[in-house]
This record gives sequence, structure tokens and C-alpha cells, in this order.
Amino acid sequence: MQTRNTQAKKMILDSLTHSKQAFSQEMVQQALGDQVDRATIYRILNRFCEEGIVHRVVGDDAKQYFACCIHCQGKIHRHHHFHFRCLGCGKVECISPEIHPALPRGYEGVHFNGFISGYCAACHDKGPGTGERTRPS
Ligand SMILES: [Zn+2]
Ligand SMILES: [Zn+2]
Ligand SMILES: [Zn+2]
Repeated sequence: MQTRNTQAKKMILDSLTHSKQAFSQEMVQQALGDQVDRATIYRILNRFCEEGIVHRVVGDDAKQYFACCIHCQGKIHRHHHFHFRCLGCGKVECISPEIHPALPRGYEGVHFNGFISGYCAACHDKGPGTGERTRPS
């Protein structure tokens, strides 16, 4: 099933590279429909991580999200930017500027898993009182 696999890879890559958005495995699944099964998607995403094509972050909702890399080579990812998850529309984005946390002398940061959740510009503009805002659980 080499051709199907290749096709799935291309589809996943297309949906990831056409935005700054990060996708969870379920979001990729939704975008692709039933054409590709879960296990294949997961395997492809992991492969992309190892190849330096996408990076993985774990959200404040404990889900894994995958977003495109810009200058990564191989499996060494050095992303020091925050990710933003919108509580209104559910989208997850890479928030660009690199962060350089002040670490104690002699320490070197390699992995950075910054995550912020809140409301994106579009959801914020809808004003208070819409969506799931501040509803106690
Ligand atoms: Zn990367
Ligand atoms: Zn939003
Ligand atoms: Zn990112």
C-alpha cells in the first residue's frame, strides 16, 4: 500500500504547511476524513517529527499537537516559541517570537513546551458573553 501511504503523507503535509496552525491527530483525521486510518496518521506524524518536518507540543489539555518546522534538521528540534490554544474556536497556533528563558549559568535549554490557552483575535472580537467563556465546570 505504498501509494496510499505516500498520498496520506502528502495530504498531511499539505494541511500542516498551509498555515501556522498546529493540529492534533484528531484534527488531521477530520481534515482527511476516512481515507486514512488513525494508526497511519500517527505513524506519519511521528515520522515527520523525526525528519524535522513538524514539531510536537503537548497542550494544556494534555493532547499532542503537531506544527510545521521552519529550520529544523533531523530529530533535533529547537523551538522556543509559545503555542496558543483558543478556547473559543479550538485552533492551536505557533506564536512566533523565540523565547530565551534566563536559565542558571551553565544550563542549556533544548526543549521548550510553552503553551497558552485563551481567546484568539477573532473570538475576542465577538465580545464577552459568547462561547464557552468563563463557564465554571
Ligand atoms: Zn522543529
Ligand atoms: Zn478563536
Ligand atoms: Zn510551534
